[in-house]
Amino acid sequence: MSDSRHFSSDSETSTEVWIRVALDVPVEGPFDYRGPQDVVVGDRVIVSFGRRKMIGLVVELPSTPGCDPSLVKHVESVLKDIPALSASWLKFARFAADYYQRPLGEVVMPALPVALRSLSAYQGKRSAGGPVARLDQRRAPKLKPTEPSAPPSLNDAQQHAVQVIGDSLGFQAFLLYGVTGSGKTEVYLHAAAQTLARGKRVLMLVPEINLTPQFEQSLRARLEPVAGVGGVAVLHSALSDGERLRAWLRAQRGEARVVLGTRLSIFAPMDDIGLIVVDEEHDPSYKQQDGLRYSARDLAVWRGHDLGIPVVLGSATPSLESWVHAEKGNYKRLDLPARAREVNLPSVRLVDTRRLKMEHGLSVQLLDAMRTRLANREQVLIFLNRRGYAPALHCTSCGWVSQCPRCTTFTVLHRMTPGRHQLHCHHCGFQQRVPQACPDCGDQDMQPIGRGTQRIEEHLGMLFPEARVARIDADSTRKKGSAQALFASVHAGEVDILVGTQMVAKGHDFANLGLVGVLNADAMLFSQDFRAPERLFAQLMQVAGRAGRHTGHGEVIVQTGYPEQSVYQALLKHDYSGFARHTMNEREAAMLPPFSHQALLSAEARELNVALDFLQAARDAAHTLLVAQQTEAVITLYDPVPLRIVRVDNMCRAQLLVEATHRPALQSLLRHWMSALNEHPDLRRVRWQLEVDPLEI
Ligand code: ADP
Ligand code: ZN
Ligand code: ZN
Repeated sequence: MSDSRHFSSDSETSTEVWIRVALDVPVEGPFDYRGPQDVVVGDRVIVSFGRRKMIGLVVELPSTPGCDPSLVKHVESVLKDIPALSASWLKFARFAADYYQRPLGEVVMPALPVALRSLSAYQGKRSAGGPVARLDQRRAPKLKPTEPSAPPSLNDAQQHAVQVIGDSLGFQAFLLYGVTGSGKTEVYLHAAAQTLARGKRVLMLVPEINLTPQFEQSLRARLEPVAGVGGVAVLHSALSDGERLRAWLRAQRGEARVVLGTRLSIFAPMDDIGLIVVDEEHDPSYKQQDGLRYSARDLAVWRGHDLGIPVVLGSATPSLESWVHAEKGNYKRLDLPARAREVNLPSVRLVDTRRLKMEHGLSVQLLDAMRTRLANREQVLIFLNRRGYAPALHCTSCGWVSQCPRCTTFTVLHRMTPGRHQLHCHHCGFQQRVPQACPDCGDQDMQPIGRGTQRIEEHLGMLFPEARVARIDADSTRKKGSAQALFASVHAGEVDILVGTQMVAKGHDFANLGLVGVLNADAMLFSQDFRAPERLFAQLMQVAGRAGRHTGHGEVIVQTGYPEQSVYQALLKHDYSGFARHTMNEREAAMLPPFSHQALLSAEARELNVALDFLQAARDAAHTLLVAQQTEAVITLYDPVPLRIVRVDNMCRAQLLVEATHRPALQSLLRHWMSALNEHPDLRRVRWQLEVDPLEI
């Protein structure tokens, strides 16, 4: 220990050390403090920062502070209510911060349960003992009774996959490519049990948990016998703060041998992990869309690499990124080519809507098929990725269309209660009563344009008065527990026709679902985003995969005005690999990801020009760096452009795309670029953000 660790102007401070603290503030540190000698890296401390007090994480004990020692403040207190976060956890967080170009504090602090990072949990009247102590006074976690279930014996393809995963020594990424219903879950469960038997722990990521309690239940039932009662902890955003804290602590203390969670769980505080599983690895919800914009899937691969363990990425429609890794041999592909139960994949029919007269947006073909299935006591799913009653309201005499005053978008008509409607903006949350008469011409004949899930639900109720119709979308499931309740009623056979958005497409094993009807898929086809067809294909395959999972006589009817499009043609044949090949060739020819790497700088300001000017200046700065680093040949800077929906909540938005054929060169540019931008004089007038590997551009 060098003497400079001790700041010794008076005797009291001679037992103190320098402490470097990561804080959740949008400023690059370091933030140095001094404090007692028993502080270790990974402890949390309460410090004052500016005029505020906040909780931060000790990330270093430097031998000298980064600024004038006489200015360095004392920490207020050191929190020792939980064990220190480990060095390997911090290393992982550091990687994420560096890669995504964010301050370390913005990574480590949000990764902790709220109670462990909010000051109010430790200060004030009701904080006695801190949140951890208060937690322990309460009853032990309520454990679901787990029914013993007889697992199916694995088929050859599953067995092979489990064995190869188990045999892997050290790091290996696997792409478990299996059609919907091929039994990927069985592979995860066996691989997990294997890992537990070797004394290691398992981290399993899923896109959403609250939607698939089935999955959680079978995981508990199957793994708790190996992991011990309470050995499975579940982490997702629908938990209360207390529930999350409890599960997180069980993970950190090693009581939980299996952690099942959504994207944030990639930061679960576990060191002796032996296996990471990412189910539905292509799912966009693995991408965090604000703050630290990370991909939990990508971080899973990095963490697995760092820990030297296998990582299993599973999907019926892998992301092009993972597919190309497998093609290049970076990832090992494991195929489950057939459905695990002896059932066929559903047959797919395209109904060309160009030549049809539709009834409330539903074709005769679809309605006939619905009648047949309902008569046969099978369930029907109508998939429409558009919530609300209708995408807009318009005046039939002058053409006025309902628009958000704060955004350049239409407001969506919503039915609040029967007969009572409102206009909602899906971008800023603006809400308005439906005007009695047209604001422009006074005419009272105002009509909805198009259809959302509510309107389809209403029509179906009229068309099939005997059928029990239910709707599952973000609106019908706002209340905690309501999604589970709705899904449970579908599983219990209390619903005949289910209308839903993408919420219903994922992961559900509806035993009695015979028919899936897809409405308005074309809306996604012609988006500017080059990933739109990939996303549409994945979504269609997912939702199609809900049909006939147990009977094998499932049918999917897709209504489209563009049946010749490659997405639909591939869907007809369930041909992911053909679609992937086609898309890969297109991407390679255009040098788009995964054949290049992107970063997106976005800016918003009250006036569009301010945002564009900022981006132009940023572009100039980047160009100067490219010249200095001699990387012009591998990095392309595009021009700043306004976003399609340019104004949201009265802020005008623009973006600048950077594309590189060489990832390290891009990372190096971004590092220098970010420090340059942090000193830009316009910073008070623009909000800006960098996104590495953006998913939507
Ligand atoms: P995926 O996740 O690939 O879509 P699931 O894991 O949900 O598929 O499995 C689909 C169905 O097949 C489930 O009902 C599951 O219990 C069943 N299943 C899985 N493996 C087998 C097997 N080897 N034999 C019989 N049924 C199986
Ligand atoms: Zn009018
Ligand atoms: Zn708005």
